[in-house]
Amino acid sequence: MHTPVPEYLQEVLADLRAHVGGAVADYIPDLAAADRDRFGVALATTSGRVHTAGDADVEFSIQSVSKPFVYAAAIMDRGVERVLESVGVEPSGEAFDELSLEHDSHRPRNPMINAGAITTHQLLLSDDATAAARVERARGFLSELAGRELRINESILRSELDTADRNLALAHLLRNYGVFSAAAHEAVEGYTAQCSIMVTARDLAVMGSCLANGGLHPQTGAQVVPSDVVRQALSVMAAAGMYDAAGSWFSEVGIPAKSGVSGGMLGVLPGQIGIGLFSPRLDAHGNSARGVAAFRRLSADMNLHLMTAGPVGSAPIRAIERSTDRITVVLQGAIQFAGAEAVLDRLQSIDAEPTTVLFDVSRVDRFLDVGRRMTLEGMRRLRLDGHRIALYDPDGLLPDPDMGDGHFPENLPDRELRRS
Ligand code: GLN
Repeated sequence: MHTPVPEYLQEVLADLRAHVGGAVADYIPDLAAADRDRFGVALATTSGRVHTAGDADVEFSIQSVSKPFVYAAAIMDRGVERVLESVGVEPSGEAFDELSLEHDSHRPRNPMINAGAITTHQLLLSDDATAAARVERARGFLSELAGRELRINESILRSELDTADRNLALAHLLRNYGVFSAAAHEAVEGYTAQCSIMVTARDLAVMGSCLANGGLHPQTGAQVVPSDVVRQALSVMAAAGMYDAAGSWFSEVGIPAKSGVSGGMLGVLPGQIGIGLFSPRLDAHGNSARGVAAFRRLSADMNLHLMTAGPVGSAPIRAIERSTDRITVVLQGAIQFAGAEAVLDRLQSIDAEPTTVLFDVSRVDRFLDVGRRMTLEGMRRLRLDGHRIALYDPDGLLPDPDMGDGHFPENLPDRELRRS
């Protein structure tokens, strides 16, 4: 048996190949010369599997898709508070190259537009880092996420710099407002080098899967980005990644995404997948025209909209078993807030008559932090009611189960459990 996922991706490409709306960016020769019919898609799971179709291994310059990643790197280097002093998190509702600055602070509105991204690049490493070290920080970080050494395309970099008047104007104004102190040409050169890093749709999917997995790289097992930094970067990407189309994008497709002027697109669905896509023709917002159509299709077919509400996982209580000397609460699945709330609700109806309450967590996949805290608090309260608390946890999912008052449940070994 072969998994049908790659065939499904082929089908999506075949269905959309005739969609030839939009135009390639032509402000530099390298982009104007791009083969406009290229079309590739890759999907990487948080378990480390990658499925591709079409031109998924064709290289293109990452351009603005670098912005959420470099934002994450800047937060890792400087802390979120320092980064927020210089760059906001509000959608600008304007095009990517608008000078969208906040009125009082003059901070760029967000790191997904050029003004914000030029500033973000300047925040890499430290105030006294060299321009070359910042570029290498961006290239090295993107490479770590992609799981291979990415390189800068010098020809794209040079021709971008020949036509960088608008970005230079942004940098001069930012410097004028004291948002950063580097020379404008140096700031634009660093940011443009970051945009000239070459990637494939497969790379973007793998990089996205690391963010989807809370920063833990599904292929290398390394914690490449702290999970709170991933959350910040994905939040800003969801709010502003698609520029002035961000609102309609999020309501229609519901996948936090970032597009770039060379036709690349990144989508990240937390907990599930990273999606990479390449199709050079752009729509009026500067987003890949066929890419937007493909994401719409993927979201609808695979139920990927982040706001699709529904119960997450199965019911947390598999059974409550009563015997003469014991009540056994059998939990299952991933225990998060709603699951733990349901458990606490059921525990309320345990009789006042003191008995042993055994928590069997052998069928639990994992406790999220809030699930752990609430479950232990439930145990503490049952203990205060006079019950004896026991735990059957063969996989060690509740390590150090301090009920919050220095008391621990008795750990029941397997054989004693079978007795009842
Ligand atoms: N290098 C491009 C620029 O700054 C990137 C913009 C984009 O991809 N939207 O103009």
